[in-house]
Amino acid sequence: MISTEQLAYIGIGSNLNNPVEQAKQALAELSTINQSELLAHSSLYRSDPVGPQDQPDFINAVALLRTRLSPELLLDELQSLEKAHQRVRKQHWGPRTLDLDILLYGNQTIATPRLTVPHQFIGERSFVLYPLAEVNPEIILPDGSKLTDLLVNCPMGTLERLPQPDKGFLTQACKPE
Ligand code: AMP
Repeated sequence: MISTEQLAYIGIGSNLNNPVEQAKQALAELSTINQSELLAHSSLYRSDPVGPQDQPDFINAVALLRTRLSPELLLDELQSLEKAHQRVRKQHWGPRTLDLDILLYGNQTIATPRLTVPHQFIGERSFVLYPLAEVNPEIILPDGSKLTDLLVNCPMGTLERLPQPDKGFLTQACKPE
């Protein structure tokens, strides 16, 4: 069966081993995923860690892929990228070299043992909502909630958008439509 193209929003997080480089490299690698195209991505953001506070700040971003991969195959690809970044993850909510999450996959709602889409915390995390809005402020979730409404209830707080001195690289990572 030939699967149809879907737009998938991917959350990127890192707080170990030079997180800015980890996130930039992840963006470049996302552009190489099988049967998928990187259409756009947000700036990089700095966020405070969730959970244990005795760990470094996180760098976050969101990427938009157009993909023919099923959600499960896309997750396989993301997990092999995480593995390639020698992900270290010793505790729940603890530090990690690279975390890649499927935030949204088309307009689908998925609840399987491996996948919860939209991502479980999509509506509550400023480090997800603000980069998402940078990529596409008009997003509507499968349950009908508007991204703009979720933003109203989720202040930016201490989240910081990083200056983009090397925007060239990031722009380069985006294939034009
Ligand atoms: P975490 O490291 O906290 O991101 O959790 C990884 C686990 O979350 C993996 O074993 C996935 O099967 C599961 N998972 C459930 N929903 C998602 C999703 N939307 N994106 C990525 N991983 C997910």
